[in-house]
Amino acid sequence: MSKFHALGYPRVGAERELKWALESYWRNDITQDSLLDIARSVRGNNWQAQLDAGCDFLTVGDFCLYDHVLNTSFLLGHLPRRVNTTDNTLDRIFLAARGRAPSGTPVHACEMTKWFDTNYHYLIPEFYAEDSFSLHADFLLEEVRAAKQLSDKIKVALPGPLTYLRLGQSKDGSDRLDHLDAVLEVYSDLLCLLKEEGVSWVQLDEPILVTDLPLEWVNAYERAYHRLRGAGIDILLATYFGGVGEHLSRVFQLPVQGIHLDLVSAPEQLSAAVDQIGPYKVLSLGVIDGRNIWRSDIELLFQSLKPIQKRLKDRLWIGTSCSLLHVPYRASAEQNLADGCEQWLSFAEEKLQEGVLLANALKDESVKRGSQWLDQVQRSVARQISKRVHKDAVKQRIETIIPTAWHRPEGYDERQALQQALLNLPLFPTTTIGSFPQTKGIRQLRRDWRDGKIDESAYDVGLRDEIQHCIRIQEDIGLDVLVHGEAERNDMVEYFGELLDGIAVSAGGWVQSYGSRCVKPPIIYGDIERPRPMTVRWTEYAQSQTNKPVKAMLTGPVTMLKWAFVRNDQPWSDTAYQLAAVLHDEVQDLEDAGISIIQIDEPALREALPLRKADHKTYLAWAVNSFRYCYADAKASTQVHTHMCYADFDDILEAIQAMDADVITLETARSAAALLTTLEQKPYTNGIGPGVYDIHSPNIPEANQMESILTGARVSVKDKDLWVNPDCGLKTRRWEEVIPALKAMVGVATKLRSEADTSVESVNVD
Ligand code: GLN
Ligand code: ZN
Repeated sequence: MSKFHALGYPRVGAERELKWALESYWRNDITQDSLLDIARSVRGNNWQAQLDAGCDFLTVGDFCLYDHVLNTSFLLGHLPRRVNTTDNTLDRIFLAARGRAPSGTPVHACEMTKWFDTNYHYLIPEFYAEDSFSLHADFLLEEVRAAKQLSDKIKVALPGPLTYLRLGQSKDGSDRLDHLDAVLEVYSDLLCLLKEEGVSWVQLDEPILVTDLPLEWVNAYERAYHRLRGAGIDILLATYFGGVGEHLSRVFQLPVQGIHLDLVSAPEQLSAAVDQIGPYKVLSLGVIDGRNIWRSDIELLFQSLKPIQKRLKDRLWIGTSCSLLHVPYRASAEQNLADGCEQWLSFAEEKLQEGVLLANALKDESVKRGSQWLDQVQRSVARQISKRVHKDAVKQRIETIIPTAWHRPEGYDERQALQQALLNLPLFPTTTIGSFPQTKGIRQLRRDWRDGKIDESAYDVGLRDEIQHCIRIQEDIGLDVLVHGEAERNDMVEYFGELLDGIAVSAGGWVQSYGSRCVKPPIIYGDIERPRPMTVRWTEYAQSQTNKPVKAMLTGPVTMLKWAFVRNDQPWSDTAYQLAAVLHDEVQDLEDAGISIIQIDEPALREALPLRKADHKTYLAWAVNSFRYCYADAKASTQVHTHMCYADFDDILEAIQAMDADVITLETARSAAALLTTLEQKPYTNGIGPGVYDIHSPNIPEANQMESILTGARVSVKDKDLWVNPDCGLKTRRWEEVIPALKAMVGVATKLRSEADTSVESVNVD
């Protein structure tokens, strides 16, 4: 009868034990054996959770110390050669991941990038024509054997061969597909070994099947899975993060024993799947959301699955939509969240319970009369009708906003003239992206306030001191547009999440971002309201401390959405407009307080692009329009800035232009060439500040490097539109690094200014 399985489980530990252990190991505070002990215990707890919930499989192989793609590189004997400076296997993995490890010579770390459209980062495999592959299965086999002590129903989950190849990068222009046969050889050996170990199922994750794939990649699937069939082990081919779309019938013809589909992100594929599953294959339906944290509407799921179960019987499996890696461990640990919204939440543990409950109900309908079922149903009904979720006034307001294409009545040139009359900025104005170093003192101040050790007024005094200090330093450095420094923010999304109604911040809802790094996404559970201004008092105070203009800092609607857990009961665009509405009101309040430069950060705009090109247009339309609504009623003399954390914005340049910020600052220091080429081909017509100082490095940038980026930009950007600024916020840097770096940056701007002045004079003289 119907089985339930999780595609994967979080791995940092419910108390982030693995994070602490890794960081201690890297600092040489604990031995490798202690690290491995802790890792084994986290892994053991993960399995225990699956056993306790009553899952039909123990998922094995998804656990890893740093990253599952990097683990696959290790498994295939395909770590970059430069890490071979130590005999210690784990340290080789850490060298590839971080460039440093307790043993071995420092090397440059592998690049990282986002795992599909999630906020998880994987390490990019590097391919060269001469690469070879060999099986390194010791770690995996140890895991399998440990799991076998607990259960004989084991499913090993690994990235599939084509997804592994496709997520890599060719370093010498060779074709990654040329390695397919060699890689299959190793996978095939591995599958044989697993079969010998008594493993019955292997889940091979092939999420690239939900993306736009070139034909040769689609064709390669048949070859690959025919080859793997020889191992004689049952393969579940898993797809997730979207629908397989046009690949569906080919996927269903592959010689595998089961197919997994993500029905949360692409429910529309269900009927075609049921039609094409054929008489032998298992159909695994991912109906428990692996990426979001809401309790399932279990009754609705039951109704849609029951007829399929009648047809497929035990060939129907129920699963999480994708690995649970993307959700925190335990909602039951959350208490007293805003509006009691914890009762609507389901983290990894609860998701296992939901899945098993559903599978049980499909086996035996009397389960639906039990208290667990009723409790689950009540929670989802309560959420659907809650007045704390649904607020008429908010809904009415966005209904009036959505149909309008927002823009400022004056064009960029007219606005620039008015802004310049007010601000009187020099040529090549210098500014920063917003945050300044978050010192121990600042963190302690915030913690003391949060823990109730100091009262509001003491906190206020402490923050004002910080702001004043930050302003003094910026004046001393000679920057033109100052910021208050963001000392009150631990995180640019969480800060607003705490101040807005309709958004809750969990206590322990941590999710792995990369390696030992975790994030705690706020939870957008209801219609959003702003009880009071959020940034005005700090910005206003900063402005009172200087005659130079102070730029206010807001986080844009798409970035808030993308870096939060979002509602699943309305389209993303509705939530984006609700966020835009509260930001709009904040912009008005900032203006009223006399602030004339306002930055609305959208670093996540590009990463929120849908996986399929066909969906980009719709997304960009609401993303841009909701951004524009934020400043739609700002005076023409108010200068709107935005910031994005990348330079390769080739594919979305039109949308960025349409956002129509007066100034955009971008990350470029490591990839200036890419930006400059784009700008030459498609000039950007508003103000632009290509980042000249790489804030990800502790080094003080060289003046000539900064100058050459600016000189390059001047080819396609008019002098009057060119800004000088770092790559990104400075909160992770130390003052000792930031001050000399910014002084050097101001020096470059001053030099360019004086050269420009002389050239203007010489023109006049001639
Ligand atoms: N204003 C933010 C800061 O300076 C922007 C951070 C970001 O782009 N991620 O920290
Ligand atoms: Zn940035």
